[in-house]
Amino acid sequence: MTGDPVRREVPDEQKLDVIVVGAGPCGITLANLLALWGVRAVVIDSEPEIYEHPRAVGIDDESLRTYQTVGVVERLLEDITQNTPIRYYTSWGRLMAHVEPSVRPFGWPRRNNFLQPLFEAALRERLGASDTVDLRLGSTLTGYEQDADGVCAFVEDADGTRSVLSARYLVGTDGGRSTVRRVAGIEMLGSTAPQKWLVVDVEDDSLDAPYSAVYCDPQRPVLMVPLPYGHRRWEFKLLADDDEVALSEPDRVLRELIAPRYPAGSLPRVLRSTVYWHHSRTAERFRDRRVFLAGDAAHLQPPFFGQGMNSGIRDATNLAWKLAHVINGHAGDALLDTYDTERREHASTMVQFATRMGEMYSPRNGVTERFRDLAFRGAQRIPGARDYILQMKYKPMPRYVHGAVLPYTGGVPGAPVGKMFGQPDVETVDGGRIKLDDALGTSFAVLGLHLDPETSLSPEAADWWRAIGARLVHVRAPRGGPGPEPGTRRKRPTEAANVGSVQIEDVDGFFRDWLLHRPGDEVIVLRPDRYVAAICSRNDLDAVTAQLRTTLGGGGGR
Ligand SMILES: Cc1cc2nc3c(=O)[nH]c(=O)nc-3n(C[C@H](O)[C@H](O)[C@H](O)COP(=O)(O)OP(=O)(O)OC[C@H]3O[C@@H](n4cnc5c(N)ncnc54)[C@H](O)[C@@H]3O)c2cc1C
Repeated sequence: MTGDPVRREVPDEQKLDVIVVGAGPCGITLANLLALWGVRAVVIDSEPEIYEHPRAVGIDDESLRTYQTVGVVERLLEDITQNTPIRYYTSWGRLMAHVEPSVRPFGWPRRNNFLQPLFEAALRERLGASDTVDLRLGSTLTGYEQDADGVCAFVEDADGTRSVLSARYLVGTDGGRSTVRRVAGIEMLGSTAPQKWLVVDVEDDSLDAPYSAVYCDPQRPVLMVPLPYGHRRWEFKLLADDDEVALSEPDRVLRELIAPRYPAGSLPRVLRSTVYWHHSRTAERFRDRRVFLAGDAAHLQPPFFGQGMNSGIRDATNLAWKLAHVINGHAGDALLDTYDTERREHASTMVQFATRMGEMYSPRNGVTERFRDLAFRGAQRIPGARDYILQMKYKPMPRYVHGAVLPYTGGVPGAPVGKMFGQPDVETVDGGRIKLDDALGTSFAVLGLHLDPETSLSPEAADWWRAIGARLVHVRAPRGGPGPEPGTRRKRPTEAANVGSVQIEDVDGFFRDWLLHRPGDEVIVLRPDRYVAAICSRNDLDAVTAQLRTTLGGGGGR
């Protein structure tokens, strides 16, 4: 590329493994995940500081599970309000629905609110503990070239210094206007809505409304989200005859749009008001040979369902372990193709879903609105439909059919292969209660339900699992084995036998119930991202191991 420094050949051992372009939520998450596996990477960002105003305000349970893997979830939760309900109102003020998910299928609350600058700072701080991943701020990617051996990235620092970084792979997490996507020549498919929204953040908020709310008004739909530490987000649809520059001026926003919603004398302070267009677009490909797109660089959706950033975190969670396994020699390059196969379809589904939610928030007229109100209220009288709304079962969840998963061949319908696995609590051998993932390590996990998976594996197959960093896990029946004499404590598994598998106890009966419904499905293979790779009986475990080995297509290590 003209004006870029001259590329030079870099010996493989001096190359980075991965260059991550963009340290927004998606890039910093990917970098933290790569650090878990010792991948040598740099994440660059044009900006010298974290952007001071939030865009995203809602984080879901799937994302919190990713941060559990990273080891930073408790730190993030310090600044998060958990389990915020959401209410939907008609334009005449009637409550249509109060959505308050009470279940935690993945171990974490489903709807949570956060302040993006605090969140990003905690993730950057966490990355600071890594020996293998560096964060380089004030460095802009101006272009790159790739060939069969790697990628050369052309970078310009804030003081004008230019340099070249070489790596085996490059990931563009550089947002909606992605340079990486432009250089790769990848098109964004979809549309941009011909409507604008005014987004207003306030502080010193004293409104007694500890829930998110959507006012589905055909005239001017409004959204509000309570945020930690006395902040609140307001979003107002702009009308065709609004003067957006004049209306977004803080005093006027406060007077005309905010004040009518607060009791007299209790007005908050406007921190910022910004106009946004909402896009509904997905990249035509997420991979171009050694280059990948993730987050807003790969898909853009209206914020009506609070899933833009969460979708990007899903991308990072999917891509990170695949890159790490290929780089560490545990899998072949073809595994990286499954990133596009698995993520693009779901990202696009989420874009369409968020777009439809926006249409529901903006009924065309009073008749549409009344019809919608009746339908909503009617549905809530039917128990199944009520649960569907209240527990947010309408959220489109990924189910990977083609990719790094094996088709289920057992006989029980509804096998969750390709879906995110639930996360119950389990008990450790020293009697502690922990979340399942905390017992599984960071790679694959082979869970034997009420059996030790090692006893169903040939020595060679067990060695292969260990070589790729997998954990073999014996999930013991709740309070199984011989009981103690009265007045004594029961024997813990470590005292009972010298076994190679990790021992955990099914303290809440989650796996007991699984076996009651799915008697032959005694072994569950979980991927590092906690999606189910395979389900089988103990007799099929060697064969399933061989098939997964072929699917991953790798060797023993780097
Ligand atoms: C009003 C609004 C509300 C939203 N609410 C939610 C919500 O509640 N929940 C949710 O999940 N999502 C929400 N979103 C969407 C969410 O904000 C985005 O999806 C998310 O921020 C995207 O993260 P990202 O890391 O992919 O990209 P970005 O956050 O855009 O980060 C990209 C980074 O790349 C850097 N960069 C760009 N070009 C270069 C370059 N050439 N070289 C080096 N660095 C570069 C930028 O400086 C930036 O730091 C909302 C969005 C808006 C606008």
